[in-house]
Amino acid sequence: MNNPVQMGWHARAAELKPRDQAFINGRYVDAASGERFDCFSPIDGRLLARVAACDQADVDLAVSAARAAFDKGEWSQASPGYRKKALLAFADLMAAQAKELALLETLDMGKPIRFSLSVDIPSTVRCLRWYAEAIDKLYDQVAPTERNVLATITREPVGVVGAIVPWNFPLIMAAWKFAPALAAGNSIIIKPSEKTPLSALRIAELAMEAGLPEGVFNVVPGYGHTAGKALALHGDVDCISFTGSTATGKLMMQYAGQSNLKRVWLECGGKSPNIVMADVENLEQAAKAAASAIYFNQGEMCSAGSRLLVHESIKEVFLERVMHYAGQFQVGDPLDARTTLGALVDAGHLQRVQHYVTEAQQQGAQLRQGGSRQRESSGGYYYEPTLLEVTPQMTIAREEVFGPVLSAISFRTEAEAIQIANEVMYGLAAAVWTRDLNTAHRMSRALRAGLVYINCYDDDDITVPFGGYKQSGNGRDKSLHAFDKYTELKTTWIRLAQAP
Ligand code: NAD
Repeated sequence: MNNPVQMGWHARAAELKPRDQAFINGRYVDAASGERFDCFSPIDGRLLARVAACDQADVDLAVSAARAAFDKGEWSQASPGYRKKALLAFADLMAAQAKELALLETLDMGKPIRFSLSVDIPSTVRCLRWYAEAIDKLYDQVAPTERNVLATITREPVGVVGAIVPWNFPLIMAAWKFAPALAAGNSIIIKPSEKTPLSALRIAELAMEAGLPEGVFNVVPGYGHTAGKALALHGDVDCISFTGSTATGKLMMQYAGQSNLKRVWLECGGKSPNIVMADVENLEQAAKAAASAIYFNQGEMCSAGSRLLVHESIKEVFLERVMHYAGQFQVGDPLDARTTLGALVDAGHLQRVQHYVTEAQQQGAQLRQGGSRQRESSGGYYYEPTLLEVTPQMTIAREEVFGPVLSAISFRTEAEAIQIANEVMYGLAAAVWTRDLNTAHRMSRALRAGLVYINCYDDDDITVPFGGYKQSGNGRDKSLHAFDKYTELKTTWIRLAQAP
């Protein structure tokens, strides 16, 4: 059992010693107050680490370090080729530690190890490599002015970026921010969720090893109302890039208004409609995708297809098939490679999910499948795949549950489907299943969402932007568009003197 390759995940977990200090100015340090918070695993309630609880004083230190590094210019003014090399080395180091990082994600957040290994870590590495590769291929612009003028439009790093991220994909959500921000030359301070701080703390030392200068990559673990608020209110932070709930996103805008009008970019919640038209080409494929759209990652996905809008003529047969595929999601020990549905992130979140389902039934929703806590004796927080038939006015059809709970709604006409789809406050993702190209294009145009999938759900690549309309946020993560968040545009207007 001494060979790590032969060890099971539980044995590896028993040997793991997670980093538990903040990472500021190139070193691991305790919080100035000496305070710590307990980090429990949702798998079985075990204590994983007692992590430094950062607050204002620690955020001040991190911001000064980030600012000093930015002003020194070792990173911010380095050639794009130099930054590319360091970021590729950083990505390689993460890839080399893939198993440990996957284990940290699973222990901290509760997702199945098979997905941490096959989705979370490879996506994080690919994201970093993609931005590293992009940065020495981007050109600035020369404006089409009159002949005696040369006007250049150049991009410059915005400065000190605060990245406040959630717990559902701890490393991926952080990478969508730190990869483009670092590639563009910024210094970054990551505030991971207090529920899942461990992976961000671990990769900080890899960033140093890869050659990022001190102060360029900082991690301040702590609570939202302490560390997060201090960062978002800080007068020397130039940009807050936030992913989390819409309620917290609104606070980010207030903090910016109360402080220095820092740029605020928000990736918030969703209540995405997955619309199945009567002429769906492949009902089986659509049903399978509808189940994955809500049960993958325990439904803890901003873009989850949490509202299934199905044409009334095929409703019964379609729901039967969705329930069949829902049943294939195996609730189990996340450290067992066969498990496909892990634990919810903590006890409070489990209660929240349970409350939504109970309330929906009180409002008249019909429970078609699931609805119960699972594996309670494990000490963890498991909930089975659940399907309710609801009406669009019910709370569960309008609010984000963020759990493995699908709300099915039937409709009669395309217009009715669009109306139901668009009438919630969110606008992150949407999908349409139809064999008619006209229907597909027409509905894609009518849907108020940042991502529209046709005959698929949640297909993904780093090359395309990700983000929402309405109260799902502003700006876009991923793709070259993400650089808009982390750069300022500068116009330099040069009047050319007449030839003597
Ligand atoms: P959350 O809003 O509770 O927390 C997000 C982050 O904000 C955490 O780091 C938290 O500590 C911090 N925070 C909380 N209160 C704060 C405050 N007053 N000041 C500063 N920071 C504060 O969200 P969550 O529960 O961690 O994540 C789930 C939410 O994230 C869901 O709504 C989900 O839809 C959303 N999400 C969106 C996307 C997207 O790309 N649109 C992706 C993933 C998750």
